Amino acid sequence: MPAHDLVRPIMSKNVTVCLSFDFDALSIWLGPMRSKSPSTISRGEFGAVGAERLLDLLRRHQVLASWFIPGHTIDTYPKIVQKIADSGHEIGHHGYLHENPASVPPDEERRILERGSECIRRITGKSPVGYRSPAWDLSPHSVGLLLEFGFQYDSSLMATDFTPYYCRIGDEAPQDGPYVFGKEVDLVELPVDWSLDDWPYFGLHWPAHHVGLRTPDEVYSIWAADFDFLYQHLGTGVFILTMHPQVIGRGHRLLMLERLIDYMKSHVGVTFSTMEHVAAEWQRTHPVTKA
Ligand SMILES: [Zn+2]
Repeated sequence: MPAHDLVRPIMSKNVTVCLSFDFDALSIWLGPMRSKSPSTISRGEFGAVGAERLLDLLRRHQVLASWFIPGHTIDTYPKIVQKIADSGHEIGHHGYLHENPASVPPDEERRILERGSECIRRITGKSPVGYRSPAWDLSPHSVGLLLEFGFQYDSSLMATDFTPYYCRIGDEAPQDGPYVFGKEVDLVELPVDWSLDDWPYFGLHWPAHHVGLRTPDEVYSIWAADFDFLYQHLGTGVFILTMHPQVIGRGHRLLMLERLIDYMKSHVGVTFSTMEHVAAEWQRTHPVTKA
C-alpha cells in the first residue's frame, strides 16, 4: 500500500436513512384498480395488520418514519392512523382515494389536496408538509398547487438518487430542440425510485401481468448494495426506502427489513430521520436560488 494511503484522512460520513410507508390500505384497490371483489379488497385490509406490525418494529428500533396516507385510509382506520401520529411519526399527503393527479382535471386535483389535508389535520392538528403522489405521477399543475397549499417537499420524482433537489415550474419539451429546464421553486424534492420500492419486487397482480414474490434475500441484496454505494462512494446523502404495510408487513419481509435496519445502524455516521426533517434541513442549508 502506498504510504500516502496510510495517512489519508478517513472521510467522515453523513448518511440519513428515511423509511417511508405508503399506507394505501383499501384505497389502491377501490380507486385506481376499481375492484369490487371482496378478495382483492381484503388485500388492502391486510395493510392494517402490516401497519400495526411496523409500528411495533419501529418502536423497538427507536426509528421515526414518514407515513404517506390517503384520506380514505384515515377515514377507514382512524385509530391506527392516530396511533401512528401519537408515536411521533410524520404523516404526509397521499391523495384521497389514491388518485393519480395526472389523470384528473386541475380543479379535481385541488379538491383532492384539500380533502386529504383535512383528513390529516383531523389526526395531527396541522397541515401536512410532505406530499407523495399516488403512482408517483404529477400533473403539470401539481408543483404550483403544492406550493399554494404550503407543502415543503414532494417525494414523487426520480432525477437524483441520494441528493434532495428543488422542483421546477415552467419546463418545456419541444420536439425539435433540447429540453428547457424551468425555474426552481421552494419545494424540495426527496427522490424515489422503483428499485427502492417494495411493491415491484413483492407485489402480485392477478391475472399474472406482474408477478413479484421475490425472496427477501434478493431484495435485501439490492437495497443494501444501494446503501453501500451511498455510504462508501458518496459518503453524504439521503437513503429513502418506499414500502407499503400490505406488502412489507408479511413476516418474511419484515424480518428482512429488521436485518437491513440493523445493518445500516451498524455504520458510523448513519442516522434515521423523517423526511419532514430532511426537507427542512435542505431548505436551511441549500436555500433555493431566487430568480
Ligand atoms: Zn400509494
